[in-house]
Amino acid sequence: MYISDDSRSISVMASILLNHGTILLHDDNDHITPVKSDLLVVGNEIAEIRPQINGFGKDTVILDCTGKVVSPGFIDTHHHVWQTQLKGRHANATLLDYMPRGNSTGALYNAEDVFWGELAGCLEAIDGGTTMLVDHAHITHGPLHAPNAISATVSSGIRSIYGYCDTPNVTSWNPLTFAAATPDYFDSQLADLAKQQPFGDGRVQLGLAFDSFFLPKEMVIERYKSARSLGIKLVTSHYARGPVVGQHSVVELLEAYGLLGPDILLSHASNATPNDAALLASANAHVSTTPETELQAALGFPVAFRDDLHGVASLGVDSHSNNSGDMLTQMRLALQAARGARNQSFVDAGKNPNFVKHTVEAAFNLGTIKGARAVGMEGQIGSIAVGKLADLVVFDGESPAMVCAAEHDPVAAIVMHASIRDIEAVIVDGKIRKSGGKLLAVQGPTGGNLEWKTVAQKLMESRTRIEAEYRKIDMKSATARIMEVFQMKPENFVDSL
Ligand SMILES: [Zn+2]
Repeated sequence: MYISDDSRSISVMASILLNHGTILLHDDNDHITPVKSDLLVVGNEIAEIRPQINGFGKDTVILDCTGKVVSPGFIDTHHHVWQTQLKGRHANATLLDYMPRGNSTGALYNAEDVFWGELAGCLEAIDGGTTMLVDHAHITHGPLHAPNAISATVSSGIRSIYGYCDTPNVTSWNPLTFAAATPDYFDSQLADLAKQQPFGDGRVQLGLAFDSFFLPKEMVIERYKSARSLGIKLVTSHYARGPVVGQHSVVELLEAYGLLGPDILLSHASNATPNDAALLASANAHVSTTPETELQAALGFPVAFRDDLHGVASLGVDSHSNNSGDMLTQMRLALQAARGARNQSFVDAGKNPNFVKHTVEAAFNLGTIKGARAVGMEGQIGSIAVGKLADLVVFDGESPAMVCAAEHDPVAAIVMHASIRDIEAVIVDGKIRKSGGKLLAVQGPTGGNLEWKTVAQKLMESRTRIEAEYRKIDMKSATARIMEVFQMKPENFVDSL
């Protein structure tokens, strides 16, 4: 198995000077202060932040940041990055609709489809200012799928924890049937990848994505133990208590199995109990709220601003086949939804709130420093500081959307006004990946530059092939099988109340 590295890597002493920008600096209490300053990147780190930096080398790339806002790169803690070819299919889907049509149709992807879907998912994220993501990669439908996905992630230039996943493999579509056991290559491939990691100059680390809590206790414990002994730093799982997947608590199960710890990241945590929240906080485990999914698919109200979970919360995109691929949208949606819910409780009581409790700064932190905590990388990413990794986003503070707002309060300008269009440059690990508002070409796995247009063309070819297979599936029968396999209760599915 060969996973290409990014041979375009430039000398570790390569440097970039961001001149005259407004830099967003976090203090120890997560309060953000905008400071007019220069910022020097040397190699993959932030080397200096001073009002005027003169002593840079003659090869230093200079980005004039006059009128620009320099933000830490955004951190997306839950994303199924392979799903690009499925975009547009789930716009009116429930969770049950999505399960055969989104989740299971990964089985229609061949290893090459995975490469293009994954590369495009990473590039969409970078375009939107995401510099780090947690990839819940439930696409292990063949021995080359995960290596190709990792190779694409490396090519894209993004920072990632690739969550290798024991994916339920489809053995037949009509009727929909899943393989009874994990594929025989799973354990050895996991061990191989763990030995080889990190990939891409250290940017891409291996994680484990685990949703097989139906397995016997000993097997679940063994899976976590073996992952941890292989040096895997993060285990991520879905957890959405409710009428579709049931009322059991994944948090209590992990606690009972002795597995809860700071390397645990649960996506959604919808309807988590107060006991769940207390257990997560005491274990320093984290959650990833994905507001677009939770609001559409009736998972329950997003918990990012829930009093007992806000401390361990972060934000994610989840399925970019349906949701916006950027964190600007997730921050804004989480914030305004939480405000709306709080306000409604006042209105229902015939009262008016005297203040807006949930702030733009809190939303911004969910997409930056709290994401870094959720992945155990607070010391390296999530805020701008000397010695941290150079993951930066440059916004045009004088764009039609951001002008005046960026001058008054740049954090408000980003959370309330900015869109992807306003992102001029993205730097990941000290390398410029977007410049002048355009994604730069990336290096393909066999060398040679790949422009976005080529990626888009490959995606369309791949989509056409997948679509031809998709049309052969009886989705009504597949949905009924999903209900059986996951032991869903038909009486819980109703048209109206
Ligand atoms: Zn998910």
